[in-house]
Amino acid sequence: MKKLPLLLLLMLANYQYAQQNYSYKINLEQCKKDKIAIELACPATEKDTAYFNFPMTVPGTYAILNYGTYISDFQALDANQKQLNVKKSGANTFKIFPAKGLRTITYKVRDSWDSKEKKNKIFEPAGTGFEKGEYFFINNGGLFGFFDNKLQLPLSLEFIKPAGLNGFTSLPCTSKKNDSQIFSAENYHTLIDNPILFTTQKENVIKVANAEVTVATYYKEDASAGSYITSELDSSMHAIESFVGGTLPISNYTFLNYIVDLKDVGKIILSGNIRLYQYPKLIRKMGNRGFGALEHGNSSSYYLPDFGFNSYRGMVSSTAIHEFMHIYAPLSLHSVLIGNFDYVNPKMSKHLWLYEGVTEYFSTLIAMQGKLSTIDNTISELKTKIVNSYTYPDSIPFTLMSEKVFTKPYSDLYNQVYQRGAIMAMLLDFEIMKLTNGQKNLKSVIFELTALYGKNKSFEENEIIPVFVKLVHPDLQLFFDKYVTGKTPLDIEGGFKTVGITYQKEKKGIVPIDLLSKQNGVVANTGIVINNRITIKKAEKNNPAGFMAGDKVEQDAVLKCFKNADGDYVKDGETVTLTVIRKGKETTLTFPAKFENGTIKNFLEIARDKTVEQEKLFNLWTTGKS
Ligand SMILES: [Zn+2]
Repeated sequence: MKKLPLLLLLMLANYQYAQQNYSYKINLEQCKKDKIAIELACPATEKDTAYFNFPMTVPGTYAILNYGTYISDFQALDANQKQLNVKKSGANTFKIFPAKGLRTITYKVRDSWDSKEKKNKIFEPAGTGFEKGEYFFINNGGLFGFFDNKLQLPLSLEFIKPAGLNGFTSLPCTSKKNDSQIFSAENYHTLIDNPILFTTQKENVIKVANAEVTVATYYKEDASAGSYITSELDSSMHAIESFVGGTLPISNYTFLNYIVDLKDVGKIILSGNIRLYQYPKLIRKMGNRGFGALEHGNSSSYYLPDFGFNSYRGMVSSTAIHEFMHIYAPLSLHSVLIGNFDYVNPKMSKHLWLYEGVTEYFSTLIAMQGKLSTIDNTISELKTKIVNSYTYPDSIPFTLMSEKVFTKPYSDLYNQVYQRGAIMAMLLDFEIMKLTNGQKNLKSVIFELTALYGKNKSFEENEIIPVFVKLVHPDLQLFFDKYVTGKTPLDIEGGFKTVGITYQKEKKGIVPIDLLSKQNGVVANTGIVINNRITIKKAEKNNPAGFMAGDKVEQDAVLKCFKNADGDYVKDGETVTLTVIRKGKETTLTFPAKFENGTIKNFLEIARDKTVEQEKLFNLWTTGKS
């Protein structure tokens, strides 16, 4: 037994009264109708009126979320459990008055995944999903609020849970028992940056360089999904490791994955024969859900479909590299608007070209340099991005779209960050290599910048471009003026030339006949391309290649079959071969090559007569080594 002296008791009592932290209690055992109850022991309040807020948005989503919409039964209580006045002001804020005696707040949270909310629907990886006894997918902004001017206080989260359900997050776990788990966060920003997945399925842990990587997964239909995903992530993480030079900039990382069974949709897609009447059914089954991922400093969360044929595994590995690379931008390289994020009235940064464009380009580059993707596949992936980039207007500067992305028409243009933004970053990479004669590239400049700023030091909105230019060459300013802050169409042809790749938006001349055209008796379904294969819908007798309806053929192979091993076109009339999948089996078609006068759109080819300079930069670009 230990007796505490009176003075200490008084100090403790006083400390409790004036507690300067948020102490949350969440009972996952009592989830009813997709709602969980939350209790908060409040930090001391000095003011007559207190404002308790949920985020309007969080970093990385670039959209209005209004987490406050999902809160109900909100009560504010004093030390005697007497209810204080509460008034909701706006979608996300509760006004409490008088607030001086405030001790406890209680409320209920409804999950966003099962909600019918149409306006400002929360992108699933940023939302919340509850299934009692099975999983709880928690983005903390959805569950936990904060008082005005009290974002810096520490928080503790005590979850009451059944024994088989375990919580995974990169937040420190201060206590773990069979029936409870306590996590802590040094402040509200850290809390928002660390989602939690409670799952009944077993976690996997991999060691990559200096980092311990935990993979937590929930997939109702297949408990071994986590192991498959882990093996994919293992090769992605090793490709990143060699890209960044052998050491990862973090010591722990958590992947939080939730997989949705959509194999029946996959069957319809795979049949390659989607009829008009099936579209409403497909859309209904997809349920207007947002599949994808969201990045954080030491974790990322995934909400992915399983269309069958192991589709989610490929999706995890390609998005994981993108999400992981966000630890550079914006997480270690960001403007004050992100560093001091305003959850109530956020202002957007101008620099999506950096946060999303550069990150997306890096993920393509890492896959190529890490040999997860061949140079040819990388070039055809870039070609798809180029084609998509033409659907966005040059007349709206990228920086303008960025800073106004919460409003129309700019919000509709956001998706270009993955297309036009990635191509812009690639051209910036080429320009840096050209101006520095291969001494620097985009990667080295980004690494210099993250060393200069880092996680805790933000740049001013107008500061980053001049600092960037200064690290490279004065002439680089022109690139930013024209393409990033200006309205000049991207010079894709000129950019590719730097590394000895020929690009022409429209190449006229002698071209192979289009084996997949109506004119040649073939109708192909190109709407949905899976594994780069397209399906022949209709094929007339005697079509030049000898296709039959139902054949599946690789898109690139249709053009490549007209070339010899050196990459030159064969002679007119020479016999060529093309492999298709017919009734599940590989079948070789043999037919004479035929050419005509015509146009190839978005022609891309590695030049064989590269200059010494081009050869050097091509090697630097494709391998990362000079
Ligand atoms: Zn991203």
